[in-house]
Amino acid sequence: METHPGDDAVPLRRPKGRTAPVGLPWPQVSREQWNDYRWQLSHRITSVDDLAGLCRIPAEEAQRLSRVTDIYRLGVTPYFLSLIRFDDPDDPIARQSIPSAEEYFGAEDGEDDPLEEEKDMPVPGLTHRYPDRCLMVVTNFCSMYCRHCTRKRIWALGEAAKTEFELSKMFAYIRRHEEIRDVIVSGGDPLTLPTDRVEYILKSLRKIPHVEIIRIGTRVPVVLPMRIDDELCAVLEKYGPIWLNTQFNHPREVTAEARQACERLLRAGVPVNNQTVLLKGVNDHAEIIRKLNTELLRAKVRPYYLFQCDMVRGLNHFRTRLSKGIQIMEALRGLTSGLAIPSYVVDVPGGGGKIPLMPNYILSMGEDRTVLRNYEGIIVSYEEARDDGRPSARVDSALPPPRNDVYRLLTGEVRALIPAGNERMARRKRRCESGSPST
Ligand SMILES: *Cc1c(COP(=O)(O)O)cnc(C)c1O
Ligand code: SF4
Repeated sequence: METHPGDDAVPLRRPKGRTAPVGLPWPQVSREQWNDYRWQLSHRITSVDDLAGLCRIPAEEAQRLSRVTDIYRLGVTPYFLSLIRFDDPDDPIARQSIPSAEEYFGAEDGEDDPLEEEKDMPVPGLTHRYPDRCLMVVTNFCSMYCRHCTRKRIWALGEAAKTEFELSKMFAYIRRHEEIRDVIVSGGDPLTLPTDRVEYILKSLRKIPHVEIIRIGTRVPVVLPMRIDDELCAVLEKYGPIWLNTQFNHPREVTAEARQACERLLRAGVPVNNQTVLLKGVNDHAEIIRKLNTELLRAKVRPYYLFQCDMVRGLNHFRTRLSKGIQIMEALRGLTSGLAIPSYVVDVPGGGGKIPLMPNYILSMGEDRTVLRNYEGIIVSYEEARDDGRPSARVDSALPPPRNDVYRLLTGEVRALIPAGNERMARRKRRCESGSPST
């Protein structure tokens, strides 16, 4: 009988008393090794050949997948791999971590950098888009390469961390820009750096007086939770206030190990927020998002954003319509804890940044009354406060008012916004200049 490598690898189970599930290529791993992030890093699955040892991949498919991984590298930690149910062809954990031919073949749509992060980089690796905060890419390495990654383009640069020289340029920029009060340390995955490197970055940022908070963007609690060890926690505690944003996408990722990692972070004074990416075939159903977010609350993690999947080349098969996100938001509000409801945001192409989207709850606004609807569909007339001439709260100093034209519409400074090149306006102007009466 013909056998295929990995035939006996299906299905994966976690038997009592053993740490690695049956079917993984490390049946003899000790609990100690499994819980050591260095062991996890050095035993990552990084090639299609490795994969073929785990699950059945027809030769032709393996060849196609190798073409994909030539461009978009493969890397999965044994831990994350152990969450996959290989007997399910649509497994949501596999979909995020195992390459698919769709990433490369027939992936003409999309751009490598639709959010134009590179164009908003005053120094390489640092994106300064919003007035008071900036984002640093400190490494291109990730312990697990998410197939849906928005920054897939940087994988081609190799699995390298930024050098001290490159980092020093970023720090110098932040030092020169006193308006920056929030620095996001991201990547790649910054927590894959050695702890002393993490400390060096945090320490350098803390030396800049106007940096109030540091945010770490990392998927380590989800894909390599054992990385959140005592040594790292001590460093994070030392350089606080530090906030950590992670990315749980499916309730099955909220394991005992992941919960423990979040618990450790909290004990070190680091609040953990979650940024889910809305992904077709992974979590594009209100019930999955509700379950995920309520599980996260139990782990004391706050759902912060639900991201629309970006129009990055090779991610088309992950994209949903905007209406899907709205439908999910509609299904959450009122039906579960407000704490479990994130903001649904779309980062628009061209560097326009994040735009929040929500169902319409305002039906009409009048002088005395506003008509609203609630989550049950009940329509309510809400009595507005009357202007009694009393002044609003005073402040000593304030952010400057937005200088955008929509704000000027609200203040009455301008009456209409007219797109450049509007033909009707051009016609008016021509008539005006030629002095002919309007007809
Ligand atoms: C998302 C993002 C931020 C942070 O945005 P918040 O809404 O404050 O979480 C900052 N800079 C860049 C370039 C971003 O993409
Ligand atoms: S951890 Fe973040 S940067 Fe790394 S591959 Fe996943 S989404 Fe991309």
